[in-house]
Amino acid sequence: LGLVKYFRYIIVGGGVAAGYAAREFDRQGLKPGELAIISKEAVAPYERPALSKGYLNPTGAARLPEFHVCVGSGGERLLPGWYKEKGIQLILSTEIVKVNLGSKTLISAAGETFKYQTLIIATGSTVIRLTDFKVEGADAKNIFYLRELEDADELAESMKTKKTGKAVIVGGGYIGLEVGAAMRINNFDVSMIYPEPWCMPRLFTPAIAAFYERYYANKGIKIIKGTVAVGFNANRNGEVTGVKLNDGRVLEADIVVVGVGARPLTTLFKGQVEEEKGGIKTDKFFKTSMPGVYAVGDVAAFPIKLYNEVRRVEHVDHARKSAEQAVKAIKASETGKEIEEYDYLPYFYSRSFNLSWQFYGDNVGDTVFFGDNNPSSPKPKFGSFWIKDGKVVGAFLEGGTPEENKAMAKIARLQPRVENLDQLKKEGLAFASKI
Ligand code: FAD
Repeated sequence: LGLVKYFRYIIVGGGVAAGYAAREFDRQGLKPGELAIISKEAVAPYERPALSKGYLNPTGAARLPEFHVCVGSGGERLLPGWYKEKGIQLILSTEIVKVNLGSKTLISAAGETFKYQTLIIATGSTVIRLTDFKVEGADAKNIFYLRELEDADELAESMKTKKTGKAVIVGGGYIGLEVGAAMRINNFDVSMIYPEPWCMPRLFTPAIAAFYERYYANKGIKIIKGTVAVGFNANRNGEVTGVKLNDGRVLEADIVVVGVGARPLTTLFKGQVEEEKGGIKTDKFFKTSMPGVYAVGDVAAFPIKLYNEVRRVEHVDHARKSAEQAVKAIKASETGKEIEEYDYLPYFYSRSFNLSWQFYGDNVGDTVFFGDNNPSSPKPKFGSFWIKDGKVVGAFLEGGTPEENKAMAKIARLQPRVENLDQLKKEGLAFASKI
């Protein structure tokens, strides 16, 4: 048996949550050698959202070390040297393949053994692949997914060789919309296909989606809705040449980018911790059912106090905040102190072209649309409120100023009553700004 490496704290996974957890450990007081981050990726924690945005810019593209955490939330950039200086072990290019929570042991692909006193699970998500569904030809070259830096590098490389070619984007969610825009900005001939009747159906109302679809069409992106890719054609080199649709059509393609969703990486822990909603169940301190084991970020199924419901949230803001909460809770438990319960207001955002939207709260109930959603306006600004049981519970805004976005967050948090939906529609943004 090889050497066993022991750390007081181990974070498994080296993504967004791990980086913010490291910063919080340092703030709370950490001794050199106490903390290790074990990551499959080859680089220190970075702001993952950059991969589908600045990373794909045709000029001045973002590259590490520019977007290491915690720049995404206006914080200091933690370069590899920072971890070194703090005595935090960054154990990179190391995949954990076996976990025994009972004996507090982790084993890497290379056979190394790690032991800990407290574990934070921060393994995030992995993309759903078309090969998972055995889609014919889905293993052809130049069919890309986007989750990790390596994926983004491969895509960026291929964009260079296939420049101004034909790109087909499979999926109309965050990744599809952001990468579709990026490919267009890089002068690709872009088509997007998705099975749903409108883009981002889990959040967007038809009215919201209609704006983005028209805006994208004006940019020259062809959107084909209500279709799925049933197969891919490839040339003799195994490179993709076409996407076969379920209606018999074939779209020519030099590059395909697939964004059809992600699933939380919980497999290592199956049967060892309680699960819920596809994730690892935690309390308001991100403690799992196993003593000494915490779960944060995409994998955590945690109670949202505001809605009195357990949910998983696959967004960067939650990854950051849950990591900080878990570390505070760990430190407090060691000193017998108490900290406040997590009281999270869901917050999502996306950017593409010159557009930028933010959403706060819960997208349930009736919707009231307001504002200027003409895609040809010089600066479109519009939004939607969600109203449940007579109260505003969700707020979406495209093109808002920082103050206006803050007002939207406030309204989703305070949940003011509305008596008259017509009045709300007329007031629109002004309603939020006066709360
Ligand atoms: P991750 O950041 O995914 O980190 C998980 C880490 O664990 C990875 O480094 C992984 O390699 C490692 N790992 C996994 N398994 C193992 C193992 N067995 N052994 C060792 N290491 C392992 N959210 C937004 O709110 N807004 C956005 O605009 C936005 N854009 C996005 C764009 C892209 C391209 C992607 C992929 C995601 C985007 N997200 C966005 C979502 C957001 O990035 C995630 O919610 C967030 O990164 C989750 O943080 P995490 O730490 O839980 O997981």
